[in-house]
Amino acid sequence: MILPSYAAGRWYEAPTGQIALPSAIDGHTVASASSAGLNFAELTDFARSTGGRALRKLTFHERAALLRALAVYLNDRREPLYELSYDTGATKRDSMIDIDGGIGTLFAYSSKGRRELPDERFVLDGAQEGLSKRGTFVGQHILTPLRGVAVHINAYNFPCWGMLEKFAPAILAGMPVIVKPASATSYLTHAMFALIVESGILPPGAAQLIVGSTGNLLDHLDGQDVISFTGSLETSLMLHSHPNVARQATRFVAERDSLNAAILGPEAGPGTPEFDLFIKEVVREMTAKAGQKCTAIRRAIVPRAFYDAAASALVEKLGAVVVGNPRSEAVTMGALATRSQRAAVLENVALLEAQTERLFGDPEHYTTLDADAATGAFLPPILLATELPLSVTAPHEIEAFGPVSTLMPYDSVEDAIEIVRRGAGSLVASVFTYDDDAATELILGISAFHGRIIAIDRDDARESTGHGSPLPGLTHGGPGRAGGGEELGGVRGVFHYMQRTAIQASPARMAALTKTWTAGAPERPAAVHPFRQTFEELQIGETIHSEPRTITLADIEHFAEFTGDKFYAHMDEAAARANPFFEGRVAHGYLILAFAAGLFVDPAPGPVLANYGLERLRFIKPVAPGDTIAVRLTVRSKSARQPDYGEVRWDVAITNQSDEIVATYELLTMNATTAGATAALTKVG
Ligand code: NAP
Repeated sequence: MILPSYAAGRWYEAPTGQIALPSAIDGHTVASASSAGLNFAELTDFARSTGGRALRKLTFHERAALLRALAVYLNDRREPLYELSYDTGATKRDSMIDIDGGIGTLFAYSSKGRRELPDERFVLDGAQEGLSKRGTFVGQHILTPLRGVAVHINAYNFPCWGMLEKFAPAILAGMPVIVKPASATSYLTHAMFALIVESGILPPGAAQLIVGSTGNLLDHLDGQDVISFTGSLETSLMLHSHPNVARQATRFVAERDSLNAAILGPEAGPGTPEFDLFIKEVVREMTAKAGQKCTAIRRAIVPRAFYDAAASALVEKLGAVVVGNPRSEAVTMGALATRSQRAAVLENVALLEAQTERLFGDPEHYTTLDADAATGAFLPPILLATELPLSVTAPHEIEAFGPVSTLMPYDSVEDAIEIVRRGAGSLVASVFTYDDDAATELILGISAFHGRIIAIDRDDARESTGHGSPLPGLTHGGPGRAGGGEELGGVRGVFHYMQRTAIQASPARMAALTKTWTAGAPERPAAVHPFRQTFEELQIGETIHSEPRTITLADIEHFAEFTGDKFYAHMDEAAARANPFFEGRVAHGYLILAFAAGLFVDPAPGPVLANYGLERLRFIKPVAPGDTIAVRLTVRSKSARQPDYGEVRWDVAITNQSDEIVATYELLTMNATTAGATAALTKVG
């Protein structure tokens, strides 16, 4: 099969330059790839003019809904992908990490988009800043999607997950994507991408695919574009220093080599659950995806006292690994993606072996189940070891991207930290200890070199995601060698595709722009009590001012009796006076809140469905018996939730008889939409 690219809304099959893509199992040609003749300028133009424009018209919640629909569509059509995935050398378990894991990422970003981002096309970043004495000039950071295209250049090891983990945050941000998978396994990426196109869920131009080389694509990028690269250090350097990319300051995010470490705690000797968990995890990480995981454990670091025990336990477990045709159920480790990758791993193993000894795995002599080692890309797991980790360099610098790990002993926790540091920046490290002090010292000692650290022990092992699984909510990326410390997890991953801009304006302009009322912005007098208006009818800035109410000593005593809160500041004049904050007895904060509700609530059944919390509550001035309070209630912002209701955030200020603010807070209510209110009326009727 000749794999076509998907460019400017149609499939494009290159007439020349086809490169055969061999199966990892037996070398037969699975497909061939070429992008010869592709008009790369057309791809970038189409992405910007058609895809970006369509995506930017949608809110985050609408884009999140697209991701969810896509996840459901792909989830129902996974089976043929598994079949194709075997040819990449993956076992069924490996494929689940790649295919199901990728689809899971879409689901996760979809729910993050709905929960953590507004139903708007911009994001407010941080709080509003006052910039002037009289409050007529304020500042606010906002984030808006870049107007360019996200170019995703991916590695061969995760053909599906690698595409979707980058695709999801970009689409959620409102940026169109050009996916360029690594050629070796591009047939699987292509198969999943074809399902995305077939679904028709995304607007035209939102996603395009290049199978084969990127040609002169980089010449067409500018400062509104983003390149997100996963692969080797060398390719990353070459792309980042491309003259046009450098000139245009095109954003460049890199995920590169990483010499991840697992550290066994100083107390976690044989017989402890942490020792067993460590051994299990190192073997799992060496063999999952045949070690072709960016997060795989490359350096297993143990206390010197447990070095021999760890070596024997690892060797014993590795002896049970069954290498072979991943279609066979008995096989526990499949093949590398290609024979050339196998050769690259062996070259690196030779460099590592110059400074280490081999404890397990002979690449010349090993058995493969249901497969011919001479034609497939198989390797046995290879465990290397050095007793002098601080006197060698190779294990800290050379990543053999296969089932290869090096065991090293440490003499003190400080030593362990130094060994880890020699990796010059990694994606992830795991720490196996049940000792709080050791865990704290290790984690704080190595965190500057990592994007993520996972502490595994007997309490969390069952539910933990293990050493190697990045989660959509958490950072994936790392400092130094691993790529430069870019944060790619969670909504911050989405923000990579957006520009942060400081806006300075009057409170009125700011409220109109950000759809968020703050003190200083004009109030809109409410003609009808806000509690009588549906979600759609309520206007940002709509305000009522309550009647006043005087708080008496009898109120305070009644409240104290009723609630049982007889704190001395409310009940004992002398004790209250001795308190540096009060001049005598004061009203309970909760009494003030309760009375405030009594002043602004309109009680009859209506669109307000529920009060579900207060935020940013501050009691600013004490209220003494005889003081008179009044309330200002203003619609601060609205956030759509469901067809029947949405969240309203109210700005509340309680003042005293001198017009001084005594308390402020934001009140959250769920309010019926017009449709929801109508449905409720029908139900009552
Ligand atoms: P690679 O050779 O650097 O290739 C990575 C990607 O770059 C592929 O899509 C490749 O396409 C493309 N590419 C290569 N030359 C290019 C050029 N001149 N212009 C544009 N694109 C170009 O890396 P690899 O050896 O395939 O991948 C394995 C490496 O990836 C390992 O070192 C591993 O550590 C790293 N990795 C890192 C992470 C992470 O998150 N840190 C994750 C996975 C893998 P072609 O395939 O068509 O050449």
